[in-house]
Amino acid sequence: MSNTPWYQKGLHFECTGCGGCCTGAPGYAWVTPEEVDRMAQHLDLAVPEFSLRYLRYVDGHYALLEDPTSFDCVFLEDKKRCSIYPVRPVQCRTYPFWPENLKSPEHWDNASKFCEGIREDAPLVPLSEIEKQCRDQAGIDTPVTRYNEDSK
Ligand code: SF4
Repeated sequence: MSNTPWYQKGLHFECTGCGGCCTGAPGYAWVTPEEVDRMAQHLDLAVPEFSLRYLRYVDGHYALLEDPTSFDCVFLEDKKRCSIYPVRPVQCRTYPFWPENLKSPEHWDNASKFCEGIREDAPLVPLSEIEKQCRDQAGIDTPVTRYNEDSK
């Protein structure tokens, strides 16, 4: 069996900043302690205060809060903009190059229903960059969980 991924020629994607991946169905944006430090510092808050305001504790891990009704991420502004974009967690930074979206062309196509940045006329992201995103994810010790259960 070949180890060459089906996306070896790269994948077309460019984030439009639509905010679609910051809302939708309920989900978890997991964060590591290092990411919490960076986000708290960015907002000029002490970590305990940041944690009280923006985090929830689920199954032994911390995740960002989301609106209980709209399921918007607590940092989504005006339905479009991540208010902590420069220090957003790896899970957010590496979307849509998540393992569940890269399983097959069909999974990638399905992800395009939720992410308008996945489209044929978007710039080609080379295999080396996709693999880097996968490595970055593998380096975090929090579970990467899909935002949208329909994308399975
Ligand atoms: S859904 Fe896709 S295009 Fe929209 S903000 Fe998220 S990554 Fe960018």
